Amino acid sequence: MDDDDVSARKGSFRKFLEHLSGAGKAIGVLTSGGDAQGMNAAVRAVVRMGIYVGAKVYFIYEGYQGMVDGGSNIVEANWESVSSILQVGGTIIGSARCKAFRTREGRLKAAGNLVQRGITNLCVIGGDGSLTGANIFRKEWSGLLKELAENGDIDREEVQKHAYLNVVGMVGSIDNDFCGTDMTIGTDSALHRIIEVVDAIMTTAQSHQRTFVLEVMGRHCGYLALVSALACGADWVFLPESPPEEGWQENMCVKLSENRARKKRLNIIIVAEGAIDTQNKPITSEQIKELVVTQLGYDTRVTILGHVQRGGTPSAFDRILASRMGVEAVVALLQATPETPACVVSLSGNQAVRLPLVECVQMTQDVQKAMDERRFKDAVRLRGRSFESNLNTYKRLAIKMPDDQIPKSNCNVAVINVGAPAAGMNAAVRSAVRVGISEGHKMFAIYDGFEGFAKGQIKEIGWADVGGWTGQGGSILGTKRTLPGKSLEAIAEQMRTHSINALLIIGGFETCDRIKQSASGTKRRVFIIETMGGYCGYLANMGGLAAGADAAYIFEEPFDIRDLQANVEHLTEKMKTTIQRGLVLRNESCSEHYTTDFIYHLYSEEGKGVFDCRKNVLGHMQQGGAPSPFDRNFGTKISARAMQWISTKLKEAQGKGKRFVTDDCICVLGISKRNLLFQPVAQLKKETDFEHRIPKEQWWLKLRPLMKILAKYKASYEVSDPGQLEHVHHRGHEEPAAI
Ligand code: ADP
Repeated sequence: MDDDDVSARKGSFRKFLEHLSGAGKAIGVLTSGGDAQGMNAAVRAVVRMGIYVGAKVYFIYEGYQGMVDGGSNIVEANWESVSSILQVGGTIIGSARCKAFRTREGRLKAAGNLVQRGITNLCVIGGDGSLTGANIFRKEWSGLLKELAENGDIDREEVQKHAYLNVVGMVGSIDNDFCGTDMTIGTDSALHRIIEVVDAIMTTAQSHQRTFVLEVMGRHCGYLALVSALACGADWVFLPESPPEEGWQENMCVKLSENRARKKRLNIIIVAEGAIDTQNKPITSEQIKELVVTQLGYDTRVTILGHVQRGGTPSAFDRILASRMGVEAVVALLQATPETPACVVSLSGNQAVRLPLVECVQMTQDVQKAMDERRFKDAVRLRGRSFESNLNTYKRLAIKMPDDQIPKSNCNVAVINVGAPAAGMNAAVRSAVRVGISEGHKMFAIYDGFEGFAKGQIKEIGWADVGGWTGQGGSILGTKRTLPGKSLEAIAEQMRTHSINALLIIGGFETCDRIKQSASGTKRRVFIIETMGGYCGYLANMGGLAAGADAAYIFEEPFDIRDLQANVEHLTEKMKTTIQRGLVLRNESCSEHYTTDFIYHLYSEEGKGVFDCRKNVLGHMQQGGAPSPFDRNFGTKISARAMQWISTKLKEAQGKGKRFVTDDCICVLGISKRNLLFQPVAQLKKETDFEHRIPKEQWWLKLRPLMKILAKYKASYEVSDPGQLEHVHHRGHEEPAAI
């Protein structure tokens, strides 16, 4: 990275868009319907971004009920009213169901309460019911104001002044049941809860031979059931959108007993709360248990997860998602014109997007209608491409086709792990092996990276060999950091000996989300945490965003003594307020001389009498532990996709002789903006800073100012890449990056 790059980058952060002023505006924020982890992160972001742009922000307590009742339910928020809530589940401003808001009379009262306080911008965090309500309210707004004026409750001037209501929605729902958005706030945390339970069950149940029937939430949407089935390699899954075929009872029992015969000691069946059969009759957990017990005589237990799924701390993913959405919601409100429809803000892959609320609600209702009318193929399609691809991946990985039904490709494909072990690697290997087998290839596993490869540590690997791998941390194949450079000859020899036609390399992920540090509870203390990542500041930066850090020092954004001084002063000021806790993250290689020790000593000296410091080097625990649901599924999906790509390339090359290596035969698969993208290594070479082993362009650097704003620095938010209003159907042919 040269100096010009750096100053251009720093300069662009400072570029402040003046038209994004919230002066004279008032924003009301409420949470409504079922609560979800991460809602607080969204509330915090709305409040702080709102204050940052000069607007007034009001809490509306108890959802629409508070809006209808007014009085002390609508209170102006300040910076500190949202401190230390990022890691708290549920919603601090309360949520409720409100009958009155379903009536025009109730909404009339609500409008009166908003106008009284000059609130014409509304940020609603809730499910499809809440957002539908918000949309109706917006449409009626001018009529309601007229009526209030006729009743003498407000004067004509106020009607004019507050003529338009801007509405932006954020979907908070653990079910991920809202169409048009990839992930809703709370879904990832709910998956964490489910997977924790599955992992716990797996450890106890291994000692007995047992079948577990696990019921997860989702009355109308099978997302949680499907994705947790993918993340734990369940034997069977029941979803409302995709009921099992007639005769499923027999098929399921055959599958369970086959798995037992393969020495699998534990069977897991996941059932969505709203599971149905093709006649729309409910399929219950008890019914499934009865079936297994009577048909197979297995010891079978039912676990119904219930509200556990809404509980606990929000995951890093949900905190980041909700924070980004909260900031985006404020930007969308400030950019709204009378013509802009009410919209929903969301993320698609890495990118912020805005979608018309009405279209999303419509599509969500269409899914239900399709299910009611037993058009199940339509229901799956309407859920979106990523749901569909999850379902296909699940089917492919869970159920092995009989050998005689798989057309043989006569190709040998090897899988290898390289680089540091990362949570999710094993899930990726499992998926590659199984997809490879179902495409007719002979699959080989290489042990201990390129070093092992050169020594001939390579063996054929079968379907059952990778059973149960999804939930395991580290790398079961073994991985070494050694590059193949020195032993190319020996490796080529091994490729020849085993007639390897293609090689899938899994490595280089260093994005596990294991940064957890509880710093609240202690007063006047600053925690200085060192994260891993080599020169890549992703973990420090995203960890900072998820934990609400005051600073995150990274290599990509050089800092000097003045920055350190400014940070210390910022913390000293902060300690004078009611927020008496500081968190500073430092990426391991961010600076040669400003080491973690140096920063710790500097802060300790400068903070004397005001705060004390503790430091913590997170080290290898970041690579350890069981993989998160995100990493399991990301590993599974990306690897399945890579394997399909390899199959296509092998087919194309058939009959063209042995040499077919061109630039586009050596690709890296990853997320680029909102899609999964194969990029030829030759092209990536140009985009990589080899000295520091990082890409020259890093998408997440755009989130730096966001962290600073939310920590009360005077950083400027460059909206170079704000969400654009799109339509729900707008989806290209690319593979969506959503999990
Ligand atoms: P969710 O937002 O999680 O889907 P609900 O469907 O219970 O939860 O909706 C929450 C609240 O939103 C309701 O109690 C009601 O106050 C309001 N609401 C829902 N649907 C409508 C509607 N069609 N019109 C007006 N308000 C609605």
